[in-house]
Amino acid sequence: MDCIFCGIVNGQIPSKKVFESDEVIAFEDIQKAAPIHVLVVPKRHMESIMDLPDDDLTLLSKLQQAIKEVARLTGAAESGFRVITNKGTPAGQTVFHLHYHILGGRELERSLG
Ligand code: AMP
Ligand code: ZN
Repeated sequence: MDCIFCGIVNGQIPSKKVFESDEVIAFEDIQKAAPIHVLVVPKRHMESIMDLPDDDLTLLSKLQQAIKEVARLTGAAESGFRVITNKGTPAGQTVFHLHYHILGGRELERSLG
């Protein structure tokens, strides 16, 4: 499988890592849209938020905890931040491995799309 984020998870593709736990990794977006722009990613490959299991919320809660930890580590918790996950090409998804954008460090537009 040719997946950029799986490559980052297994160390074949370099990244600026911000946080890592047993099931989650977070690294800086290569093309920052804000002073703070970090991607929170499950290590296990799944295409989008729709592929998170319905009957086991463990990974979901680990992703949520990672988002909070990244917000603390980057200063986004103080500056204010937005969390975005895109599902599907019409929504703007370009990498088909689930990820949450954490954007902060500046005033963000009110627009939600
Ligand atoms: P999305 O459009 O929601 O699928 O977001 C994909 C994000 O991945 C974009 O913001 C890209 O800038 C980012 N991205 C792509 N390749 C890399 C990479 N090698 N390292 C870090 N971020 C990346
Ligand atoms: Zn992947």
